[in-house]
Amino acid sequence: MITAVLPTYARIDLEFERGEGCWLVTTDGRRFLDFTGGIAVNVLGHAHPYLAEALSEQAKKLWHTSNLFRIPGGERLAERLKAVTFADTMFFTNSGAEALECAIKMARKYQYVSGHPEKNRIITFEGAFHGRTLATIAAGGNAKYLEGFGPEMPGFDQVPFGDLDAVKAAITPQTGAILVEPVQGEGGVRVPPSGFLKGLRALCDDKGLLLVLDEVQSGVGRTGKLFAHEWVGITPDIMAVAKGIGGGFPMGACLATEDAAKGMTLGTHGSTYGGNPLAMAVGNAVLDIVLEDGFLDHVNAMSTRLLQRLAEIKDRHPAVVADVRGQGLLLGIKAHVPAGDLIAALREEGMLAPGASDNVVRLLPPLIVSEEDVGIAVEKIEAACRRIEEGLVAAPVKGAAE
Ligand SMILES: *Cc1c(COP(=O)(O)O)cnc(C)c1O
Repeated sequence: MITAVLPTYARIDLEFERGEGCWLVTTDGRRFLDFTGGIAVNVLGHAHPYLAEALSEQAKKLWHTSNLFRIPGGERLAERLKAVTFADTMFFTNSGAEALECAIKMARKYQYVSGHPEKNRIITFEGAFHGRTLATIAAGGNAKYLEGFGPEMPGFDQVPFGDLDAVKAAITPQTGAILVEPVQGEGGVRVPPSGFLKGLRALCDDKGLLLVLDEVQSGVGRTGKLFAHEWVGITPDIMAVAKGIGGGFPMGACLATEDAAKGMTLGTHGSTYGGNPLAMAVGNAVLDIVLEDGFLDHVNAMSTRLLQRLAEIKDRHPAVVADVRGQGLLLGIKAHVPAGDLIAALREEGMLAPGASDNVVRLLPPLIVSEEDVGIAVEKIEAACRRIEEGLVAAPVKGAAE
């Protein structure tokens, strides 16, 4: 008999009652070090007192009014994000996929109002993940996510990630934009070769295309900059953000330059919930902390420490760890054994981490992770490697690596 909740996830049989910073506590009192972080969402950890206060204060005043009225928290958050990014304007959503939908519509509309209605195709990349709506599964191009959901939404041309020549070759008179993750997350924590993003920016400028970045996973401090594209010194025309921006409250945003947004006039887009007062209260509170002096320095310091120790683990356990990669606290361990085995072994050691494509285990700790918790994580990863070498791993949950 079908479960009451649609069975689209192979859920791990753990029930959590509460969270404290980087730790999750089950209903039966077991503690887990949480390097899943709600899949790169809980940038400030669990039950952060400042976020809890912001949410409950707003909850006592006003939850929802719709976008038919002004929402002061949203105007404030937009002004603040505008001040620290390339963007002149933005649209608030409830999720990453919706932020991407807005970005895709905006890119098409830009070319349309620029006198190029034919430029409605977007170049995307193998291994990409942009969400699970009809447009975003087409953009992502993952056959597993597309199968059976045809007709596939047209308008996307996919090329290998990191291959600038392939992008050049794929540009046609119908191409209107390039959509890319600065670091692929679900695709296996893949950082593109240096010069790739700069090359895309130059190509877009040269050919009159819009550069659309998907920073849903890489944004809001995750890579050690507020947004990952800052590492390479470029700016996009449009950027989709979600996950970390709400710190666990469902929220996203599509940011854009004034020029890129020029087609998105009155009535061209909307959302009932997007940017509602609850979300905006939490979004502003997250930003308060992420923009504090030293916050990103901490992310980078913890990243360096973790990467050093992971490199040592790789040397000590070459049969388990094939590669360690990533940027900031968007890190991946490419495994020699099935990634699901390593995830199961970690769980037996009391640590949670999600999988990714390319046989990778992701490490996505809250950005507030302490030196002490990094130390504990390293011990648990080492113990998990030993567990695998000694053949002590229980059967992994099917699909846990996905
Ligand atoms: C998670 C993710 C999405 C989709 O976000 P949802 O909130 O699940 O819709 C899109 N792009 C990237 C890069 C992501 O990591």
